[in-house]
Amino acid sequence: MLQLYFDYNATTPLAPQVKEILIESLSADYKNPSSAHREGRLAKRKIDESREKIAFLLGCQEEEIVFTSGATEGNNAVLHLVGEQNKRKTIVTTETEHDSVLKPLEFLKTKGFQVKTVYVNSKGETDLNEWKKLIDDQTALVSLMAVNNETGFIFPVQEVAEIAHNKGALFHTDSACAVGKIPLSFSQIDADFLTLSACKCYGPKGMGALIIKKGAPFIPWFKGGAHERGRRAGTLNVSGIAGLALALDFSLSDLKQETERQKRLRDKLKTGLKNIDRNVIFHESDHQLPGTLHLAFPGLLGHTLLANLDLEGVSASFGSACQSGSLEVSRVLLAMGVDEKEAAGSIRLSFGRMTTEGEIEDLLKVFETVLRRMQT
Ligand code: PMP
Repeated sequence: MLQLYFDYNATTPLAPQVKEILIESLSADYKNPSSAHREGRLAKRKIDESREKIAFLLGCQEEEIVFTSGATEGNNAVLHLVGEQNKRKTIVTTETEHDSVLKPLEFLKTKGFQVKTVYVNSKGETDLNEWKKLIDDQTALVSLMAVNNETGFIFPVQEVAEIAHNKGALFHTDSACAVGKIPLSFSQIDADFLTLSACKCYGPKGMGALIIKKGAPFIPWFKGGAHERGRRAGTLNVSGIAGLALALDFSLSDLKQETERQKRLRDKLKTGLKNIDRNVIFHESDHQLPGTLHLAFPGLLGHTLLANLDLEGVSASFGSACQSGSLEVSRVLLAMGVDEKEAAGSIRLSFGRMTTEGEIEDLLKVFETVLRRMQT
């Protein structure tokens, strides 16, 4: 059966060179990089080389990188640290953050923290004046994702980081859906903490990093050995780290050209879908990932449409993959003021480097079949 993968925002395919290095490294690099013997030192050298490459690609210093199991761990580690300090008791964020930020925030509320949220409109925009109004000398942390995983909308993290710092607050950005997809430099954003996930940029699952600005306060979430300069205990994943470095290299090469190519694919998809059903609604913004098309067909239910697409071999999503199985309407869309009916009819088509024009054409044929079936 035809297989069309349009769920890159949930996770990307492995880059071929990453797959190759993972296979090779899994058998070759089983030695513990913390061991003092020669083989252990060789494994450590591999990590050092990967760390150097990652620092260069992300615009940070090598010692600012802490390897993690993914963005969930990084986000929890940052919020844990904020919860452990006793000075400032307010956190400013948005309601469109990922659950790995919002759920720890719910926990912090039970510990006496106050969470203030800035409104995100239907174009994924926030008002910088509202950030200025809500961030004050009681704000411990400001947390804003760089790109929303459902809509692909890009947020002004650099500007918000500056507002946070002007009031002496820390700034954290969940960049799981931004790294490898848009140009991004840790030092330019001037964040205190940035989290990322390898499986969103053509790398292995269960691998990520937390970048901690030099001098930023940090209390380890994983306590134990002295790994990662005492900031994250646990034997380092040599293969995963090598895979992450290579995945970043792959995802960031010729990014400008690739962005233009993906925009052309999105335009083709939009035009095709409009020709099939002129009532289709696109949730768009000028600041959006090129490989994300978020849309709704009035009168149809998103999850029914997805089930029908799935039967035809198309993998796509609605809401966040981390909430899949839930038939609830996307809380992100509702928070952005999209009405409940439209939100219930929404789906996300996300694609990337491996997607071809031919696949867009095949997808449109599937939509034609499925919509005809569902609308009659
Ligand atoms: N943040 C965002 C924006 C995400 O999209 C995801 C993955 N869905 C995460 C955090 C969690 O990442 P991981 O699965 O690597 O823990």
